[in-house]
Amino acid sequence: MSRRVVVAVGALAFFALGTHSDSLGTHSDSSVQPNTAIAEAEYDVVTEATITGPPAKMARAAVHGPVAVSPDGFIIGADISTLRKVEDHGGRFFDKDGLERDLIATLRDHGVNYIRLKIWKDPVDVGGYNDLPEVVEVAKRATELGLPVLLNFHYSNFWADPGRQNKPTAWKDLSFEELTQAVYAYTAKVITTLRKAGALPSMVQIGNEIQAGMLWPDGKTWGEELGVDHGGFDNLVALLRAGIDGVRNSLEPGDEVKIMLHLADGGDNNLYRWWFDEVIGRGLTDFDVIGVSFYPFWHGSLADLQRNLNDISQRYGKYVIVVETAYAFTLEDGDGHPNIFGSREEAAGGYPATIEGQAAFLRELTRVVCSVPDGRGLGIFYWEPAWLPVQGAGWRDGEGNAWENMALFDFDGNALPSLAAFKSPCALD
Ligand code: CA
Repeated sequence: MSRRVVVAVGALAFFALGTHSDSLGTHSDSSVQPNTAIAEAEYDVVTEATITGPPAKMARAAVHGPVAVSPDGFIIGADISTLRKVEDHGGRFFDKDGLERDLIATLRDHGVNYIRLKIWKDPVDVGGYNDLPEVVEVAKRATELGLPVLLNFHYSNFWADPGRQNKPTAWKDLSFEELTQAVYAYTAKVITTLRKAGALPSMVQIGNEIQAGMLWPDGKTWGEELGVDHGGFDNLVALLRAGIDGVRNSLEPGDEVKIMLHLADGGDNNLYRWWFDEVIGRGLTDFDVIGVSFYPFWHGSLADLQRNLNDISQRYGKYVIVVETAYAFTLEDGDGHPNIFGSREEAAGGYPATIEGQAAFLRELTRVVCSVPDGRGLGIFYWEPAWLPVQGAGWRDGEGNAWENMALFDFDGNALPSLAAFKSPCALD
């Protein structure tokens, strides 16, 4: 999740959660120079023609390989990374008929066909949730219900977003070469563990909202002095490659796993062109999907999103997904901890904060993604539709929930009618 407060030549972002804030550097920083620690010869130089060459036209459904998603191949995903925490603290879920049900089964019965889970290396300040054993457990639950999993590597012990990308503590004193190896080994261990558990993810994203890089400062893409405050794109690309290789080298013949790179600010085409030109220009092309966060009260209009998705899917020959989105169904607060979405966000978002407004936004959003040419708009993931305001399941230890009015369940866990917006999303194509 990323909250973009000011959009200017220099990207300025603030933490989405809590009261902290932190500024970001510019994404048009002409001072960025190649890092001499990484030999240029390691990279294949691609030409502009490589970047802009026409993509092969493929049906949307073909991307999923052996995974059955939906007849038209459109992903309706849900990020339920807080589920175990909510369950452990008393959260219960009820379907549209008022029957208590397993959350994942309820989502599936309402049309959700993909589950997204984040993983933190050694979680701190969050009750230990979202570590590898928990991810294995929830991924198995989803897999056993027939739902494929998108695994989201934060490469951190805590929230990673455009305003913070802190290294796991265990890695903070490593040299860059050692850090690169650690990313590879950790990624491979996670994928191998999931594979052995029968819960191999069908899609993996390397980093979360990484327009400012990841694993700071080594993989940071901006700063005052290259090599001191940030490692620049050469380092970031090396770290991304380590993660991608860690996935690919853990697979067996017949396994199919799509790789995603994910930025926030889904309506900012300049940001996407800048970032992917830098990365692909360094020869990193071994990924399948570009993921974008799009919260309409922060990230521009749906028309902005449409233009960006249409452009980057064609320019880079990649699939695109809105991998995070949400909208409020009420302005009420369920737990006394202030919510992120208030009347200001309602005005900026353009839909009333009601169940009908939430459903209308979701219908319009899915139409945008369905409209991306050549079937390259793969789908959407709703961020934390089941984050109920139960005591003890806040965004960090000792704090409450800032998101419950953007769930797809009411504060008592009853499925909202807006979940029906997920049925046949591309039917109007
Ligand atoms: Ca709240």
